[in-house]
Amino acid sequence: MDNCIFCKIAAGEIPSKKLYEDEDVVAFHDINPAAPVHFLIVPRQHVATLSDCGPEQAALLGKMALLAPKLAAEQGCGFQVDTDGNRSGGFKTLFNTGPDGGQEVYHLHMHVIGGPHPWRVRF
Ligand code: ADP
Repeated sequence: MDNCIFCKIAAGEIPSKKLYEDEDVVAFHDINPAAPVHFLIVPRQHVATLSDCGPEQAALLGKMALLAPKLAAEQGCGFQVDTDGNRSGGFKTLFNTGPDGGQEVYHLHMHVIGGPHPWRVRF
């Protein structure tokens, strides 16, 4: 889509710090990180918001959700359970939708936010 910053990043027309890409999605570090680890998983297909998704985006959304823990682990904030059952690490995943959801870029994206405390935000 013309004039969409995330379409341009996905196409390589605007530089970004990419950490993953394939035929369906790209992932890149957020330019204004809210935490030590903050990256975005973005479909190449232009869909404005989560509310614009239908059954035809189900596989894409599943792919984005499954990619989040894999890339989070590669970025050092994977979720772990040790042999005693103690949990550590982890990350937030977030889709902002619409003005009341705090969405500023109208191209679907999943925030993945993590890293050591004390960055934790309550949402
Ligand atoms: P919010 O700014 O409230 O998080 P969004 O959910 O729409 O709104 O998120 C857009 C995100 O895209 C922001 O975290 C912003 O820092 C990030 N961003 C905007 N432009 C770029 C860019 N060129 N490269 C990387 N991240 C970007």
